[in-house]
Amino acid sequence: MTPRNQIGIPTVVRVKPGALDRLGVYLRRQGHRRVVLVMSEGLVPDLAERAERSLARGGAEAVERFEASDPSFEAVAALLAGLGGDRQAVIGLGGGKALDVAKYLASLAKLPYYAVPTSLSNDGFCSPQSSLTLAGRRRSFAAALPFAVVVDTEVALGAPESLWWSGVGDLVAKVTAVFDWKLAFHARGEPVNDFAALLSDATVHQFLSHPERNPDGVRRLALALMLNGIAMEVCGSSRPASGSEHLISHALDAVSARPRLHGLQVGVASYICSRLQGQGTELIAGAFDRTGFWDGVRADPFSRREWLDAAREAPRIKPDRYTVLSTRDVVPEVTRMIEEDPRLHGCFAG
Ligand SMILES: [Zn+2]
Repeated sequence: MTPRNQIGIPTVVRVKPGALDRLGVYLRRQGHRRVVLVMSEGLVPDLAERAERSLARGGAEAVERFEASDPSFEAVAALLAGLGGDRQAVIGLGGGKALDVAKYLASLAKLPYYAVPTSLSNDGFCSPQSSLTLAGRRRSFAAALPFAVVVDTEVALGAPESLWWSGVGDLVAKVTAVFDWKLAFHARGEPVNDFAALLSDATVHQFLSHPERNPDGVRRLALALMLNGIAMEVCGSSRPASGSEHLISHALDAVSARPRLHGLQVGVASYICSRLQGQGTELIAGAFDRTGFWDGVRADPFSRREWLDAAREAPRIKPDRYTVLSTRDVVPEVTRMIEEDPRLHGCFAG
């Protein structure tokens, strides 16, 4: 963990219904007129058109337009090499891959970045990293946080419910991530940034005060995920947002025939890790009961065998990251949980 001399946090935050149609106004106010637009491949055409109309109304122009079909370091480097010299901002519109590409492109080009997620399936839209492949292998690259976060809550509410559950899972994971950080302090003396830990913890409770899938709940989820990204920026580490549950999810991505949505994997892993940690279980389970998260998992159950492989492999994903998985061989406990925990009933097959 490297303490920062200087951190960059978003200057413009607009999280409300109709924000997509006001994007051009937000750009004009900042004097950003010649922009680069990076969109998800296969983005709903209506959303792309609304964004373009909004830019035109605000007097801004997308002088370059890309579909982020290849979320790789190499693709971003090629985009950077071809970028015109008078661009004033980069906009990322759509889902995870487009936002990772846009964020890293803006970061390398040192241009202000507008994150415009159309769903809230994870905390990546405002985190200080981009997940890209390099020579075919997935890696995390340090990136500046967005200059602007623009979330149209009506648009996010219209996204499939599985993406909402994924966002809930990635948020609730902070309960186990923060506890792992404290374990690392006690076991290894790894310093905890109290402010970042408190901020991360507070976002979960703030969302859980009313975790309903309605415009207000979507707004709370967006702000909570955003503040988690800021917690990471504050301490210069992913510790406040990512612990043992993320290690299991990363291991699953590697061993699974068909990895599921990030937040669905992370959410179930967080529940399991909370039981290993002996804390936070009721909070996490309550959040999942109230949001219907379990139904989202049971609709397409995980492979029991892949999860046990992932639990075994997880500590090797980041050997220097001390978590509850470092304290003992957890595979026998996880095996029992998958078989016996009533809440996990129907979440696993095979
Ligand atoms: Zn995550």
